[in-house]
Amino acid sequence: MTDAPHSHEPILTIDGLHKSFGPVNAVDHVSLEIRKNEFFALLGPSGCGKTTLLRMLAGFETPTGGRILLEGNDISALPPEKRPLNLMFQSYALFPHMTVAKNLAYGLEMDRLPKAEISRRVEEIMAVTDLGQFAGRKPDQLSGGQKQRVALARALVKRPKVLLLDEPLGALDKKLRERMQLELKRLQHEVGITFIIVTHDQEEALVMADRMAILKDGKLLQCGSPEDVYETPADRFVANFIGVMNFIEGVVGSDGIFNAEGLKLATGTEIRGAATLAVRPENITVTGGSFGIGGKIVDMAYHGLDRVLHVKIAASATPLQVRVPANAAVPHTVGDTIHIAIDPDRTRLFKN
Ligand code: ATP
Repeated sequence: MTDAPHSHEPILTIDGLHKSFGPVNAVDHVSLEIRKNEFFALLGPSGCGKTTLLRMLAGFETPTGGRILLEGNDISALPPEKRPLNLMFQSYALFPHMTVAKNLAYGLEMDRLPKAEISRRVEEIMAVTDLGQFAGRKPDQLSGGQKQRVALARALVKRPKVLLLDEPLGALDKKLRERMQLELKRLQHEVGITFIIVTHDQEEALVMADRMAILKDGKLLQCGSPEDVYETPADRFVANFIGVMNFIEGVVGSDGIFNAEGLKLATGTEIRGAATLAVRPENITVTGGSFGIGGKIVDMAYHGLDRVLHVKIAASATPLQVRVPANAAVPHTVGDTIHIAIDPDRTRLFKN
């Protein structure tokens, strides 16, 4: 067990990987590099091909085309048990009649490791996953979160080079899920094994992943760090899928200035003609005076530290979401007329 730093060295290279089921391209020529020791998330809406991609990596699905390289070696034709990858299923599939310690030892016993080595590795993984006190319990004497930890420990005890996790937190309630997100990340860091996690939950991917890939209709739309994807989404779909985004339709003139009704913004764009301006709620400010873009508060939501104002402006049929600190000096109420300003450096423009 090492506290390995991240490296940029790829461990897994996915090269033009393709899978079709009849007319459906479940995974459509995806190329990706996953780096050693990183926590990588495959993210996308239902049916985008995440599970099919993960199953191809694990060897449970045969690609229609493309290659999978592990540390430079083509593993595309290897059966699952010959791949140094381990897939943790959504259902934990623990043996109900075995204790936690036995569940953990089982895979190593199958591999015929010496007894002493098995006990040492089981002890070690129970310490890392904080399961020591449950060693003698059976799965039905554990909570959902504890069962999840056993499943994880069972996958890790075999020391795979890469651990594949398909919606590992899907069965947990929201509170536990949030706690386990941090725990999973800590654990990954501690064991120094590359994790590839499938999730449809954007928040989860943002919290846990070092880098993430966004898929839609089998195609890779963007791959990058959570910051990259949040700050510079590759297209409208990604912009809308990750976090909250306001969209304003307009036109960019030959001078490069974005125009919509009552709104002019010099964004430094190369785009000309019909375009959509995308701006996050935190990048719009209330000017506090009568300068800026005039609008009316039509709704308001309190989120603890901040408040989201829904502001109707002439340039947009949909009210803009504007995030302001909840303790803002000037209190706002629904029906107020206010003025807002958009920071042009924190916007994205997409050609229509
Ligand atoms: P979810 O989040 O709902 O699990 P997903 O992103 O994991 O979705 P996949 O399960 O990979 O998506 O499915 C991708 C596409 O391939 C879907 O359109 C699905 O209907 C189709 N598909 C998956 N498995 C098969 C199969 N065995 N036969 C036919 N079509 C399939």
